[in-house]
Amino acid sequence: MLTYEDALQRILEAAPAPRSALVPLADALGCVLSKGVTSPLDLPPFDQAAVDGYAVRRPDGDGHPPHNGGPVALPVVGCASAGSPYRRSVQAGEAVRILTGAVVPRGADCVLMQEQVQRHGGRIIFANWPEAGRNIRRRGEDLRRGDQALDAGTRLRPHEIALLAALGHATVRVYRPPAVAILTTGDELQPAGRRLKPGRIYDSNGILLEALVRQAGARVIRLGVARDEMRSLVEKISWGLRHDVLLVAGGVSVGDKDFVRAAARRCGVREVFWQVNIKPGMPLWFGRRGRTCLFGLPGNPVSVFVTFEEFVKPALYRLMGRAWEDPYAVPAALASDLHLSPTRRTHFVRVRCDARRQRVAEPLTGQASHRLRSLVEADGWIRVTAEAGPWPAGTPVLVKEESR
Ligand code: AMP
Ligand code: MG
Repeated sequence: MLTYEDALQRILEAAPAPRSALVPLADALGCVLSKGVTSPLDLPPFDQAAVDGYAVRRPDGDGHPPHNGGPVALPVVGCASAGSPYRRSVQAGEAVRILTGAVVPRGADCVLMQEQVQRHGGRIIFANWPEAGRNIRRRGEDLRRGDQALDAGTRLRPHEIALLAALGHATVRVYRPPAVAILTTGDELQPAGRRLKPGRIYDSNGILLEALVRQAGARVIRLGVARDEMRSLVEKISWGLRHDVLLVAGGVSVGDKDFVRAAARRCGVREVFWQVNIKPGMPLWFGRRGRTCLFGLPGNPVSVFVTFEEFVKPALYRLMGRAWEDPYAVPAALASDLHLSPTRRTHFVRVRCDARRQRVAEPLTGQASHRLRSLVEADGWIRVTAEAGPWPAGTPVLVKEESR
């Protein structure tokens, strides 16, 4: 049976290279730039008032202030506000009312802060001339036209999106987020919202996968629920294969009604592997048709979660042009003995990390793959391959932290 490492490697090799697309800036959050962006303009685009106050022209640079440093009185001859410039030039001996963000008028070389000025009707009085350039945001001081604003490979946070908007970009070239179709399977499944019929369970995998896909930054296409029969599966799978990735939950094990692999084959999917030596999630199935990757995830909810996080998410990252880093990175020590079987299998174990002594990881009871409660209660995971056991308390481990 394939090891965890080999399975992940085969998936990453099979996942197609990312494709770039021009995306509206408002839809680009979380996307990765496929090309660097140079600034098409100076930022700020013009000299701007940094405060509310008065634009003035200091006495010519002959070195001696007028009035021997006594109070200065100037007439206010006009007004400039953000978006409404003062059209004329400011002369020596004049002040122009100016508001934050307004173009600093020609002739003015500094802005007096309103708080440092007394206004008397049409005149202002102030004690001292500020130095040249005071309270002026200089054109291009943030970025100059032609400067590299953002590098290729940058992942767009609200921060970068704001910068792109300030540069006037309505669209941006990024790796296109993959479209991920989600299909859950099983005759026992019932949608939420109606009273549970005997022998049925609610479909939790559909919504779980939808949330995981969205959290990873990809687009969701809902295919609903297929019954455990060839016709229903073939119909929905062939629909799902039109997208970048198809996730099918349930029906990939060895039960009499596990028809997903056969149905996928009938749809032209080439199997890359089936079964990985992991727990939970052993029956994981992976295949390809053209550019589309198909994952058959074992139906137990925790298996769905683990196989998504460990195998689907790295593939989605590759499709989105995002680097994949192993999330098991926080060093800790086991708080109690861990008993694992079978041997040589890679186990994904839910743990509690002590809030005060963060470096201790306590394996939770109830690790079975149908148990959603310990999934909710876990604040981390460890990944251990049993052949290296036994795993007594105190063994060093690396924790993948869950964010809350
Ligand atoms: P399967 O992989 O189809 O053999 O399913 C394994 C277990 O997961 C069974 O107990 C199923 O009832 C359960 N299961 C399958 N699909 C879902 C689902 N969409 N939501 C919740 N549980 C499921
Ligand atoms: Mg089933």
